[in-house]
Amino acid sequence: MGFFSKKTTETPKEETPEFLALVAKWDSFLDKIKTRFFESLVNAEEALIDNLEESDYDINPTMTAWHGIKAQLMALSNKVDITFDEKVKPQMLQYKEEYDILDEDAKGTFLREKIIHKGIERFEIVLEGKVSTKYYNHAVSFLNEDFNCTQCSAKLEVRKDIFRPHYVSCDYCNTVNTFTPNDKISQIRWVVDNIAKYKAIAEWDEKLKAENELSELRSWSEGEDITPYKIALKKQEDASRAFWFKYFTERSEYLPEYQETIEHDIDVKMKWFYEMRKREYNY
Ligand SMILES: [Zn+2]
Repeated sequence: MGFFSKKTTETPKEETPEFLALVAKWDSFLDKIKTRFFESLVNAEEALIDNLEESDYDINPTMTAWHGIKAQLMALSNKVDITFDEKVKPQMLQYKEEYDILDEDAKGTFLREKIIHKGIERFEIVLEGKVSTKYYNHAVSFLNEDFNCTQCSAKLEVRKDIFRPHYVSCDYCNTVNTFTPNDKISQIRWVVDNIAKYKAIAEWDEKLKAENELSELRSWSEGEDITPYKIALKKQEDASRAFWFKYFTERSEYLPEYQETIEHDIDVKMKWFYEMRKREYNY
């Protein structure tokens, strides 16, 4: 962009070697941050999975550790801004006008928002999905433990898809027993959400792509041809619906009580989209 935006009224300043050196230094800094970011994600995943095993499947310390790591990753993205504003920009302004270094600023914004912030969001789905899957496989084994009738001691069958206290009648003496899952089992409802989201990661990627395509268009103003916006909005609508459909369908595999409400649940999640479309595009 800066390349084409030079003022025609004055002779464009030549790219001085000093300025080019500053650009190269800035690029290499951004590369380093990006590399460090992706390395941190790999290390974080290993550390957090270990943490889950070491805490004997207590999911809370694992999630606390993740929030700490997440804060560090966010600090890394803030470092991009601070470095540009405090170091890079003042140096570049010795050779260029502010307008001519907007592209350099934009490189930092792209790294911060599209690579780091969106990367954290996606990583969180994958990480919580993996931790939750591991947790689920461990916790569900408790449903297979013996549960006997309080009256006649007959072995009772516990349903594998209800993770809260529920009644189980004894086939032999008809006594109604209450099955109370242990703590690990009652947390399964939470992990199931994460597993379902992780299983819908391909649909999540498509949803993000559609959102980016819409945000790359300028904002629409009354009277302007709305066709490209309509196409992008339709894409986003379809991609969002596909994501939520996959997510709720996966969830209902674990919690069949939700099977009946999938359509309704999707509509609830889509409400913001139709409100936004009405507000910003008036249809
Ligand atoms: Zn009994």
